[in-house]
Amino acid sequence: MLKLKYEKLKYFIKMSIINIESLTKKFPVGKGEFTALKNVNLQFGKGEFAGLVGPSGSGKTTLLNIIGSLDNPSDGKVEVLGQSISALTNKQSAKLRNKHIGFIFQTYNLLPVYTVYENVEFALLLQNLSASERKKAVMDALEWVGLTDKVKSKPAMLSGGECQRVAIARSMVKKPEIVLADEPTANLDSANSHHILQTMKKLNRELETTFIFATHDEKVMQYLERIVSLKDGQIISDKLFNSEPESRNPEFRTRNLPDSVIQAGFEPGTLNPEL
Ligand code: ADP
Ligand code: MG
Repeated sequence: MLKLKYEKLKYFIKMSIINIESLTKKFPVGKGEFTALKNVNLQFGKGEFAGLVGPSGSGKTTLLNIIGSLDNPSDGKVEVLGQSISALTNKQSAKLRNKHIGFIFQTYNLLPVYTVYENVEFALLLQNLSASERKKAVMDALEWVGLTDKVKSKPAMLSGGECQRVAIARSMVKKPEIVLADEPTANLDSANSHHILQTMKKLNRELETTFIFATHDEKVMQYLERIVSLKDGQIISDKLFNSEPESRNPEFRTRNLPDSVIQAGFEPGTLNPEL
């Protein structure tokens, strides 16, 4: 009983590290404009393992790019780690990305002429670290993803699953608060997808990194602890889950979420058997 209360308390005191209010994103198209995100309200706390889910064109990548400070809101407020995205200069947003946000893409985006080691080290070059500190961080990151025996390989010598594990190491080597993963399993077979998801889940637990995925892959959804569904640029539901795949259909339990999430379409009956 006491443990239950403590777990509940722990959830409520979790700080929101991403705070999105009334976000709208419009793109110029021809002489007019296209609204890709409409009045999105959303918050993410430290250590979440969450996903933006929805059909192609629903706005997942657009939302992830704005959270990652790769693009700006047209309207509304987006705060990441206390910084307002639209107020940042290019230099400030580069600093936010370099220090605090890791990116994982569908196509891995590794540098082909660099070795595995150099690809991971690349993410640290803008940080003020000594060569020995860099080496330790790179080797630790490669150990997290089980690739210490491939340090000297070039990406062309690796399988797709191994390339994505290098990309995970690159995203995690600076121990960012947030990792954004856009369709990370889209080019992988089932076994490799599960492998990289288990790796990311482990890092999420051990380092308390917040992971946010954009995906329509059912395999990814099995691992997510929270699924935010998007349709035509709007949130249509926001649900919490126990992360273990086998316990995805149990009794429903409501958990108090921030008002903004509820207004954005949180459906009562959301579950998390732990609470
Ligand atoms: P998803 O990642 O869910 O597939 P996106 O966020 O990539 O969706 O795109 C959402 C919508 O916004 C799509 O209709 C897409 O065509 C449009 N869109 C995205 N980026 C641009 C852009 N730079 N210019 C014009 N339209 C865009
Ligand atoms: Mg996309």
